[in-house]
Amino acid sequence: MRGAVMHAPGDVRVETRDDPAIVAPTDAIVRLSATCVCGSDLWPYRGIDPVESPTPMGHEYAGIVEAVGDEVRTIEPGQFVVGSFFASDNTCEICRAGYQTSCVQRQPGAATGGQAEYTRVPLADGTLVATPDVPADDLVPSLLAASDVLGTGWFGAVAAEAGPGRTVAVVGDGAVGLLAVLAATQLGAGRVIAMSRHEPRQELALEYGATDIVTERGDDGVARIKELTGGLGAHSVVEAVGTQESMMQAIRSTRPGGHVGYVGVAHDVQLPGEELFFSHVHLHGGPAPVRRFLPELIDLIWNRRIDPGKVFDLELPLDDAAEAYRAMDERRAIKALLRV
Ligand SMILES: [Zn+2]
Repeated sequence: MRGAVMHAPGDVRVETRDDPAIVAPTDAIVRLSATCVCGSDLWPYRGIDPVESPTPMGHEYAGIVEAVGDEVRTIEPGQFVVGSFFASDNTCEICRAGYQTSCVQRQPGAATGGQAEYTRVPLADGTLVATPDVPADDLVPSLLAASDVLGTGWFGAVAAEAGPGRTVAVVGDGAVGLLAVLAATQLGAGRVIAMSRHEPRQELALEYGATDIVTERGDDGVARIKELTGGLGAHSVVEAVGTQESMMQAIRSTRPGGHVGYVGVAHDVQLPGEELFFSHVHLHGGPAPVRRFLPELIDLIWNRRIDPGKVFDLELPLDDAAEAYRAMDERRAIKALLRV
């Protein structure tokens, strides 16, 4: 099969690799319909995270089940499935509490890499959710988005307690931030403030339900949020970047008693204890338990009530994965979809 491999920062190649095979009896092999590049793939691409060369890339996937192991009961060949970036049994106490990304059996969801023609998914019954039927082609990008960015933005909004009567601010205008805007709107928030200085991203935020755009960042961004909220700060703030500046911007934009949902993978973030103590904000976040939300998100997509696939503003064949990485690295694209 063809699959993307990172050899060093800035060096992604699509190569011929071994087809994945069933290893454990709970595995499934999925033939991907589409895959994509994640913002988190850019950390090793930029040399900020170390690269173990060669690394098969990609953890977002949706496609048709090709084969299953002997102990797989509910997932069958021929089904179209969506899974999360972490595999989970969906039966342990942690999973049943809704934190499948901390499953006691947690392991990578696309074990052999998701930017490829096929991938091996462990714990298939717990990890994968089948759609009602094989989807129309135009639904595939949105179903793929459910596998990570939509689920992550959704968790950010849920963790921030977005809902009716609450003002939500979103720090970060990448695909996750934009989909947190969509999630906050779906969850009933009346006012949703998107923080973005990039016009195409502002437009998509407005389309997804943002009521206000704030272009300032850092302390100026915090001041602007306070201005828009009677000096108090937002009830709910989603942090979708993962830097020191964005995390502090999120905490300081939140009113006392409010909630921060942080879903940007933290890189060198240090929280000042005393400021945190006196801020009175709730902090809740981490790797999004996408599996918790998948049935609901698939239903919303299937019935065409949401269109998260719009975050893919670049579509390339899998063989052009290197260009997809470049375009996202240079912020020429919000998110690149790879047709398999
Ligand atoms: Zn579990």
